[in-house]
Amino acid sequence: MISRDTAVKAREAVQLKPLVLIVDDQVSNVKLLAAILGDDYRIRVATTGLDALQLVENAPQPDLILLDIMMPDMDGYEVCRRLKGNPATQNIPVIFVTALSSESDEEIGLDLGAIDYITKPLSAPIVRARVRNHALLKRKADLLESLAHIDSLTNIANRRRLDHALQLEWRRCQRAGASLALLMIDIDSFKAYNDHYGHGLGDVCLTKVAATLAAGLQRPADIAARFGGEEFAILLPEADIAAAALMGERLRENIAALRIPHAPAQQHEHITISVGCAALLPGELLKPQDLLDAADKNLYAAKSAGRNRVCAG
Ligand code: GH3
Ligand code: MG
Ligand code: MG
Repeated sequence: MISRDTAVKAREAVQLKPLVLIVDDQVSNVKLLAAILGDDYRIRVATTGLDALQLVENAPQPDLILLDIMMPDMDGYEVCRRLKGNPATQNIPVIFVTALSSESDEEIGLDLGAIDYITKPLSAPIVRARVRNHALLKRKADLLESLAHIDSLTNIANRRRLDHALQLEWRRCQRAGASLALLMIDIDSFKAYNDHYGHGLGDVCLTKVAATLAAGLQRPADIAARFGGEEFAILLPEADIAAAALMGERLRENIAALRIPHAPAQQHEHITISVGCAALLPGELLKPQDLLDAADKNLYAAKSAGRNRVCAG
């Protein structure tokens, strides 16, 4: 019997293998490529350009596409043009695999944004080497992309990621006619904490608060981000003001429950947060900044009313 550990490891190994999409109308070509790459990659297959375009729209996205040029209905050039014209798929590297080997054919492919060109008849070692190199580059690009969206101190989403998600969810909620909510959160009297314990312990406190906020979220699309300094923002797609206030209260309680001793002579004995909530139906006359402003206004109200509280207007 396979132990649970072995099963988990095996699943992880499978998950770690890059996913390669092979697009070719000739089944014999597909079989050959799959045989060359099957040990080291997860393989998906499409035998028409339209199938390929449909497949890449759905998760999981391939890490690399091997694309035949001569196919009936829609040729590889057109598939590549569409992939590169769609922001959701333009970063997937495309390698043309083709019997067309003139310099101008290669130039057309590369001009369309393909990253490489492999000519038939296929040499197994060359195919393996090129695919390995491009898969490695893709993995590095993905890593950089994800690091660019993480706050280096707290390891939660940074301002850039929040801004990006806010734009995206704004449009998505507008299409769905759904409410979009946002919480603005600020640690109470944090200057005094820093002054008393020093900046290093201040950083440790910020990290604990960030982790506790992120752990308190309930839905996959919810995002906790460091907004700047000791301020955080929580984006809650498809949530109304009542749900936002509930989440704000839950997070406020979670932070108070950490019972991190505050500096002496503060308004509250332990580290606490103030929370401003806002929710809007995204529409033509409003912009994402209005949601930020409304939450900020309520944060200010929570501070004025004595801190360690949630204000939803
Ligand atoms: P309030 O309750 O009104 O929010 O008071 P406050 O003292 O928290 O607000 P203020 O804006 O006066 O001070 C914020 C403090 O947060 C000052 C700054 O030193 C600290 N801070 C901002 N970013 C960091 C950081 O990255 N690390 C540490 N340790 N402290 C930070
Ligand atoms: Mg502040
Ligand atoms: Mg503060």
